[in-house]
Amino acid sequence: MFGRIFWWRVGADHNVSRSDSRTVGLRIEGLEDRDCPAISIQIDYSFDDTNGFFNDPARRAILQQAANDVAARLDTNLPAIIPGGGNSWQPSFYDPETGALAVVPNLSVPANTIVIFAGARDHPGDVGAVGGYGGYNGVTGSTAWVDTIQSRGPGFGLWGGVLSVDTSTPGWYFGASAGGIGPTQVDFYSVAVHEIGHILGFGSAPQFTSLVSGGVFTGTTATAVYGSAVPVSGTAHWQEGITVGGQPVSMDVATQRGSRIPFSRLDYAGLKDIGWTVFPPVLEGWTSQTAPASLLVSAGSGSSLITVGNFPGYGVWKFTPAGGWQNIAAEASALAVAPNGVIALYSPGYLGSDGQHHVQRYTPGSGWVDLPASAPVNLLGVASDGTAVANMPGYGVYKYTTATGYTSIAAEATALAVDATGNIVISTPSTNPSINGTWRYSVTSNSWVRVSALPATLVAISSDLTVYASFGTNGVWRI
Ligand SMILES: [Zn+2]
Repeated sequence: MFGRIFWWRVGADHNVSRSDSRTVGLRIEGLEDRDCPAISIQIDYSFDDTNGFFNDPARRAILQQAANDVAARLDTNLPAIIPGGGNSWQPSFYDPETGALAVVPNLSVPANTIVIFAGARDHPGDVGAVGGYGGYNGVTGSTAWVDTIQSRGPGFGLWGGVLSVDTSTPGWYFGASAGGIGPTQVDFYSVAVHEIGHILGFGSAPQFTSLVSGGVFTGTTATAVYGSAVPVSGTAHWQEGITVGGQPVSMDVATQRGSRIPFSRLDYAGLKDIGWTVFPPVLEGWTSQTAPASLLVSAGSGSSLITVGNFPGYGVWKFTPAGGWQNIAAEASALAVAPNGVIALYSPGYLGSDGQHHVQRYTPGSGWVDLPASAPVNLLGVASDGTAVANMPGYGVYKYTTATGYTSIAAEATALAVDATGNIVISTPSTNPSINGTWRYSVTSNSWVRVSALPATLVAISSDLTVYASFGTNGVWRI
């Protein structure tokens, strides 16, 4: 189950096409992905012409997704390679279908872009894929041209490379969702991000191998992330099975059937140590979640944590530790969640069976219901008992309970929050001095208290009735 490592080299000029293999073993897991500034990775399928392994659009889509996910967190300036006017070169790599040396004379590569030639063939043994960065020779032209070719990327002349997938590995999984991977399947996404790691120089560039000695990788970033110099297997991989933050890493020796292993914080740390600029939160332990969210609410903790986000273009998704991200609704303009998993949301694009807009409420065990038809909602809170609180522009703030329906409780709000038991805090700017300010409602005393004469722009309320508020300047305040 341990992999073989191919160090392919062609004895000519600057030709340094190094490749390496990915093997498949057994383990179970699951995770998510993406976001930031970035380099671009173009996939070129012109050497996939005989086997047509990537003719299926789903295969191309997941390879591009893997490339985008890794590239999105890297932000190193890569000058354009534009031959012509006496500047020429001969980029080379191993044909992904035959293994023979291939040359694409005077390939153009746009700025901040690398090109990967993808294809497939039958690789021996348990090799799942082979990937490595390309070489070149015949560089002639101006000094600046030669320098661009030789120093591109983190100093090893990176223009791109090759990915060759094994046609005979049983059980390839090409789906986008990690949740669909069968227990004996090999997740192509996981294999792709690993090989792209090698193409970017992990375990292959001299800047990497020069940091390996005595069985460990000594790069400062990886050492800080891992807590010590990182154990390696050979000079191309982390030691098999090591973890970071309790999660498996991509750049160890073998991938595991039945699981998706994204490019980990430690893998990115390795890339930073060889000269890539890495989006800082990645190295700090933040986990990117699918797409940038325009709204995000969270409640509960530990195994009961629930986070609900609206991802423009993707709709509303719910995250739980047990279930990962699940799509739950069309795009929303307002969201709320209670610690017991009750969700309320307002989707401007959603109309009920009566053709009217509705706030929708989800209760674990009993599913979604439309609350009675409502005006557009721009702020919303929900309590564990299902009480929903909403600001409806033009109408003011309403509270909804199953027993009483909608009840007007305040003039229009600019900020509102609801705790698990139904205590409410509202900011209501008004020219009427008896209304203007920030207010707190207590469920137990069934009464409103004005906690500030100033309307706040952001408010939150904790279970002990502490109100947190921002008044636009001077930070966040608590009462
Ligand atoms: Zn590898």
